[in-house]
Amino acid sequence: MTNLQLEVLEQRFRLRPDVELIDGADGAPMLFDALSGRYVRLGRQAAQIVRNLDGTVSGADIADRISEHSGVARSTIDPQLARLFSELSASGIFEGHEAKSTTAKDRVAKAVGRTPTWTRPLLKDGLTRLVEPVSEVLRATPSLVRLLAATALMGLALPFSINAVRGYTLPITALPWLLGMALMFTQTVFHELGHAVSCRVHGVKPRELGLALWYGVVPIAYVDRTDAYRVRSRGARAAISIIGPVQDVIWSGIWALLAMNTTGLAHEATLAATVLALTMTVVNLNPLLPTDGQQALEAALGELNMRGRAMAYLAHVVLRAELPTYLMHLTRRRKTVYVVYGAACLAYVVFVMGGMAWWLGSLALRMTGAL
Ligand SMILES: [Zn+2]
Repeated sequence: MTNLQLEVLEQRFRLRPDVELIDGADGAPMLFDALSGRYVRLGRQAAQIVRNLDGTVSGADIADRISEHSGVARSTIDPQLARLFSELSASGIFEGHEAKSTTAKDRVAKAVGRTPTWTRPLLKDGLTRLVEPVSEVLRATPSLVRLLAATALMGLALPFSINAVRGYTLPITALPWLLGMALMFTQTVFHELGHAVSCRVHGVKPRELGLALWYGVVPIAYVDRTDAYRVRSRGARAAISIIGPVQDVIWSGIWALLAMNTTGLAHEATLAATVLALTMTVVNLNPLLPTDGQQALEAALGELNMRGRAMAYLAHVVLRAELPTYLMHLTRRRKTVYVVYGAACLAYVVFVMGGMAWWLGSLALRMTGAL
């Protein structure tokens, strides 16, 4: 580290007034930037340091204090502290220091951990008002009763949908499947509202409801539940995610029940919807994609953004880019977990994208051949 990089320790930083230090998920300290709406997770030591920054102490003062308490030499402390201050300063959370763009390698490494999604918000403040009546009733219900009710409803629905799919001949024309997809769209809106309700039940505000294209191609409805980072309980955070697949199972039962009691096109469309609802449930439990199931599992294990971190760690190692401080002090076991899980996630994305490209390519070939 050069003297120029160590100079950051001479500055006296202070958090911007709209940046708040909170105890978030699992009690992990986080900075919340009200301007960008983003959360920055901090290590316990980093949080302790940030707490001391009131604009009068410099990084060097803090290095002195740490050195006094721990007996570790300033020459060891300074480079690490300088890295931390540079990163925090670059994230734009300090007064008078704008967010800085990073190197191309860092940007690539960061982008790998994210899911590229095109989004269009439809409902913002109105969303909370819309889901409040249902949320209020559920808030007044004990969580054990909610859990038992959800399990019972799934237990009722699943035999119906599985029997319907196995017992009837599936439609072979396009129209029932198109209608089934339209029914699925209605279902996804309720699915997403379920996430919003669950957010309200656990005391956070869903930010918005909108439409999105996952990886630029797969159309989905979404609810922005970023603020679930504020929910400290693992169980509650898992519930906010898993309510989606739970609802999908219940919906599959509803479609199956309709398929059993209708004939003609209505029967075929609801049967198609049953198949699609079951498929969606399974896909939405995939632990290698940022699905509801993956997020519920992460929450239950007390992890935060594990998939993103694992992929970012792997990308930094492969690109030989400098590790950000939050990825620097990992145990050996954690490094292995990140490399294995990150590689599996990346491989899966490549596999799906490759499959989709192959399918689109062969479709294009067939269509041009038919012309
Ligand atoms: Zn969902």
